[in-house]
Amino acid sequence: MFHDSVLNMNKPRIAIGIDIGGTNTKIGIFDSEGNLISFEKISTLKDLSPEKFIDHLAQQSEQILKQKLGLALGDPAIIGVGAGAPMANYFTGYVDQAPNLGWKNVPLRDFFKKSFKVPAVIENDANLAAVGENKWGAGKSFQDFVLVTLGTGVGTGLILDGKLYRGHDALGAEGGHIIIPHDQKRLCSCGGMNHLESYLSAKGIKETILQLTKEEWTIEKLGALFAEGDLKATSIIHQIAQELASGLVSMGVLFGPQAFIIGGGVSKLGDSFNQVVKQKLDESIHFSLKGKIDIKTAALASDKGAVYGGAAHIIDEVSKL
Ligand SMILES: [Zn+2]
Repeated sequence: MFHDSVLNMNKPRIAIGIDIGGTNTKIGIFDSEGNLISFEKISTLKDLSPEKFIDHLAQQSEQILKQKLGLALGDPAIIGVGAGAPMANYFTGYVDQAPNLGWKNVPLRDFFKKSFKVPAVIENDANLAAVGENKWGAGKSFQDFVLVTLGTGVGTGLILDGKLYRGHDALGAEGGHIIIPHDQKRLCSCGGMNHLESYLSAKGIKETILQLTKEEWTIEKLGALFAEGDLKATSIIHQIAQELASGLVSMGVLFGPQAFIIGGGVSKLGDSFNQVVKQKLDESIHFSLKGKIDIKTAALASDKGAVYGGAAHIIDEVSKL
């Protein structure tokens, strides 16, 4: 297949996307068109120092590169590595603090450059997912959109005027911590009250399901029952769609995006959920925007969005040099 075509091209160009999470780290090897050549998931080894762990990632990546493409790290065919990690700051190249990794003041970009022997960029994972969707996914035809990842947490990535917007010192674009109106009081993982993440994270949705059914359902079960027209499932879907729409209304009036692209594990609920969210959004957003903002499901597989984005990001970065 394309493996062969990559090998047969005069100048194969390869990009590496990495997504470091609290539990697992994903490594994706791509060609410059965004075709995934290899994907591997390994444990995030928190016992290792960050420097040693990045070294370990480099060894793993090199093994894959050698096996699949006959390339060693440092080969000019390798464009670079784009890596996502919690609180990764593109501008400084540091992760100042990532409690779920036990990291503090980590010069992550330099560690990547040193171990992988290629150019490197770092970003938070939602930003990377937005870049990936913009280059190769559901955001290809948009200049302005907000990617919303609904997973362990709620992350947002802003593409404005065709470019990733991070805010000063990369401290912005954290739509998961928008305060939404609610008759309950729920703490957010950040310590705030009634943030979008308090309700739309996987944990938040499970809490809502438990409140309304006294049972523990998976997202898949919720989706399946909703598709069958189950009344309880329908009322849960309407509640979480309303909560999500409350956050989207705030982001919508601020940025006037063409679309919200929903990624992460909850995006498995798919288009029928998106339709309910769109209906709630249009009910409460300013009249000038009613009916104007699409709600789409991310096109890149939810567990791979950030590795696609990492590869897309480093390709764009290097092309600017
Ligand atoms: Zn919060």
